[in-house]
Amino acid sequence: MNKLSIGYLYKDELNLYGDNGNIEVLAARCLRRDIECEIVLINKGKLSAYDRLSGVNLLFMGGGPDSSQKSIYRDFLEEKEPFVRDYVASGKTGLFVCGSYQLMGDYYRSADGTELKGLGIFKAHTVHFGKNKPRCIGNVRARLNNQISSDSVFKSTDFLGEEVLGFENHGGRTYLDAGVKPFAHVTYGHGNNSEDATEGIVEGNCIGTYFHGPVLAKNPHLADYLIAKALDVNELPKLNDALTTASYTASKKLR
Ligand code: GLN
Repeated sequence: MNKLSIGYLYKDELNLYGDNGNIEVLAARCLRRDIECEIVLINKGKLSAYDRLSGVNLLFMGGGPDSSQKSIYRDFLEEKEPFVRDYVASGKTGLFVCGSYQLMGDYYRSADGTELKGLGIFKAHTVHFGKNKPRCIGNVRARLNNQISSDSVFKSTDFLGEEVLGFENHGGRTYLDAGVKPFAHVTYGHGNNSEDATEGIVEGNCIGTYFHGPVLAKNPHLADYLIAKALDVNELPKLNDALTTASYTASKKLR
């Protein structure tokens, strides 16, 4: 089986609520299957310095406060945009959590009114209403959209069902363009904006989501789906997931 090569954007700046744990879950679930896994750290600076990007088959970027988003967004737009745009357009797999999800959209109007232009790859925009609206904080659950749940790869790797669990803490409210598919539909909590019951977004094989947790620690079935998609295989060797299943079942009861 091919190697999982994870491109990890802005590890130090965008790692809110332990989002780097998603990388650990992906690596662990590969290594337990004897699947080789490498992590390519993609920090600020010119991409020409990175010679292994062509092999990246899973791109990850975490969340962060407005200040962290502001600290990387110029680099994200000027140095990373061509690579990320080509990557998403090529149908490769990616996961963008919260603050990075926002910056993949058209723009993020932050709490102080500063408008951060995004890459515009996700057809959505985000507005933080400052103190005029409470933050979206708490446990959150959502049912995967049918593009994912009906995917034969999801059906073969799924062992926990179509609901995903997480924790959210964001002031920004994201609005998807008309006709754009969400990652999931909220069954408990806020999701994109507390108004339309959508959660996240799907563009090709890239997912944007507000779920921290880390999201892949809380949803190992989603982790396996992303690994299988990244490796372009229809299924993965089964693992003994008794502990993770018990953790998932317990998390479903959280309020
Ligand atoms: N700073 C953004 C907001 O408040 C994103 C927060 C996050 O990544 N958790 O909406």
